[in-house]
Amino acid sequence: MRIIDLRSDTLTKPTSLMWNKMASAEIGDDGYREDPTVRHLEELAADKLGFEAGLFVASGTMGNLVALLTHTQRGDEVFLEAESHIYYNEVGGVSVLANAQTCPIPGTKGKLTPELIKGYVRKPSINNPNPSLLCLENTSNRGGGSVTKPEEMRELVKCARGFGLKIHIDGARIFNAAVACKVDVKELVQGVDSVQFCLTKGLAAPMGSLLVGSQEFISRAAKWKKMLGGGFRQIGIMAAAGIVALETMIDRLEEDHVRAKKLAHGLSELPYLSVCSDEIETNIVIVEIISELITMKEFLAKLAENGIMAKDIGPTKVRFVTHKEINDDDINLVIERLSSK
Ligand SMILES: *Cc1c(COP(=O)(O)O)cnc(C)c1O
Repeated sequence: MRIIDLRSDTLTKPTSLMWNKMASAEIGDDGYREDPTVRHLEELAADKLGFEAGLFVASGTMGNLVALLTHTQRGDEVFLEAESHIYYNEVGGVSVLANAQTCPIPGTKGKLTPELIKGYVRKPSINNPNPSLLCLENTSNRGGGSVTKPEEMRELVKCARGFGLKIHIDGARIFNAAVACKVDVKELVQGVDSVQFCLTKGLAAPMGSLLVGSQEFISRAAKWKKMLGGGFRQIGIMAAAGIVALETMIDRLEEDHVRAKKLAHGLSELPYLSVCSDEIETNIVIVEIISELITMKEFLAKLAENGIMAKDIGPTKVRFVTHKEINDDDINLVIERLSSK
């Protein structure tokens, strides 16, 4: 039986072009800023997102943490969505290492609105922490791949600026958002201070994220990266795959989105499941079991028996993610296998 692994788009493997470029990459010691392939990737990333400078970091978690360390002072208040990856899935680095106080705001499908933010930012007072940074996640992972659109971003930026907040975007899947909105990715990040995006999700590179921002911000961020143990040497080998990711892997994300819609449609026909989102916008499908009809244990066993892998992300919720290693037949098989028993 073919195992169909929908746990995450991090399961994607490098393309043959990535392997070729990695093998022939021009490299140097990045500690001396002498790795031309890293420099090229950083410039490419900054340019693509419309910022002055970029920094190649080991992972999305490192990119977000470096951004938090660079933007905030000890005890500053950071506003973020209550199920955001930074708050929920990054080992508490925002508290432990950045020493920031988080203000988690419950949103809808992982998204915040100016109205919600207004309800949480307090007036300056000797009693309050210093309101410092707003973090937004696009697309939202636990929000089922929901997209914050350019017009929504403009309002959020205006709102944050009104409160004197800096803005960091956790754009692990920002290119999924751009493809879904059919806009240049620049339109999704205009007016913010920094963006982190992952090369290793749908874009299929084996390692790394980029942090982009102003030249001044990136110069300070580079020192935090170094302090966290991110001093790289001949890492152009990995950057080479990242360049291929940015040059060749963005447009195909649309295929993942089409398959996710098809998968969601199939899953929604099963009596014991409901799909959490009325509309699947990108490559993530979150379903909720209907507890009267099936237990979580039974549903996970059913998936396992049928050679389907997905991720339980809560007591009643399971996440399916489409990606490059999943084709149309796989989606049909998932629906067939689950429907027939
Ligand atoms: C995956 C992910 C990250 C972190 O990336 P890693 O490379 O796994 O550290 C950050 N934010 C979101 C929304 C993610 O999905």
